Amino acid sequence: MTTDGDRAVIRAGRLIDGTGGEPRTDVAVVLDGAKVGRIEPWREELRRGATVHDFGVETVLPGLVDAHCHLSLLGAGLSYEEEEGASNEFMAVAAVHNAQVMLRSGVTTLRDNGARHGIMFAVREAMNRGLLVGPRMLIAGRPVTPTGGHFHWCGGAADGEEEIRRQVRRLVAEGADHIKIMASGGGTAGTNPGLPSYAVSELRSAVDAAHYYGRLTTAHCRATRAIANAVEAGLDCIEHAEFNEPADLIQHVAERPAYRPRWDDDVAKRLADSPLFASLTLPGSGYVAYSDLAAEREREGRLSPEKQAALDRGQATVEARADSVRRFLELGMLPKLVVSSDAGPFDIEFGKLYQGLEIAVMGGMSPMQALQACTRVAAEACGVLDRVGTLEPGKEADILVVEANPLEDVRNLRDVVAVFKAGQRVVG
Ligand SMILES: [Zn+2]
Repeated sequence: MTTDGDRAVIRAGRLIDGTGGEPRTDVAVVLDGAKVGRIEPWREELRRGATVHDFGVETVLPGLVDAHCHLSLLGAGLSYEEEEGASNEFMAVAAVHNAQVMLRSGVTTLRDNGARHGIMFAVREAMNRGLLVGPRMLIAGRPVTPTGGHFHWCGGAADGEEEIRRQVRRLVAEGADHIKIMASGGGTAGTNPGLPSYAVSELRSAVDAAHYYGRLTTAHCRATRAIANAVEAGLDCIEHAEFNEPADLIQHVAERPAYRPRWDDDVAKRLADSPLFASLTLPGSGYVAYSDLAAEREREGRLSPEKQAALDRGQATVEARADSVRRFLELGMLPKLVVSSDAGPFDIEFGKLYQGLEIAVMGGMSPMQALQACTRVAAEACGVLDRVGTLEPGKEADILVVEANPLEDVRNLRDVVAVFKAGQRVVG
């Protein structure tokens, strides 16, 4: 900062505005209060009477939009059953902490896709009242799920069209920004990620009720049949977009459900031809352990046979995820592909959205496309593109500044220099 004044100007050595256009060099983002005023070539005269945030050698881009996270969980390697033992009070404090981690990593808008009871409504209220600084929060509250379904411990169980409609209305009354519905099983014990959990008519009742109140809907889909159901029911977005099927229809071992991944071209095409966005939760659980092992191997030259086997398994998972990105791209899904973190469950850490971008690039996205998948496209999927997701006049001045050019290496997003939210410098 050089001088104090009413006007704030951000000088950008390189500006990536999120619209997909070529980056511009040495420009000024002149703020108009909380909004982006104008963007023009940098001139020294702009310093006069202004507060200048000088990032003449850094890269400036829109604040990141993480379309899928769970702030009230710890991202510390616990199972859902272990997380579930925590009190609501503890979960609320954890959410406040995790919101700070997200903000420091450059996420200025996030969508919380499921927490117990009313925890996240309270956290959002505290932030909106200025008690804490955090990203803009779009809150689902309790995910709508069948009795005993994935995330049932959040308190959002509903069976049949009537109950689902009532649950949606209750969530909207409590302040839900969007509705998250579990269309398949997941990592919750007793559920199977290879099986759908709701009938099309049930999903449709959630969509109807949510749209009646102007709320978007998104469905947890780890089963192929769940994706097909979500497309048919007219959801707005699906999460994970995994193609799993049950390994055995009748399961005798309850604690470890058997399912197997198998890409389904027909269902994938139906998804690609629909208006639904797909929020790919790359990298998913296991990635941290995998990248630690990869780093160890690089350092030491070799690993123990057990560690090498674990590294190989991790590598296969990462390659499978990159491969699904490649297949979605081949089907022309780029404009609807969102990269999100799913931070919170298991070992999925907060503030590491760049890991998902690495896999997206591995799967054939250009770094620019990957960046848009967690800025412009993510904002569109969350219904907030009119306010955030790109840096253009009239939009919120939510801005991330990083040391080096992420178009050369998306991992450069790790080195955060500063973050602005609504024109205020909140980090750095
Ligand atoms: Zn999730």
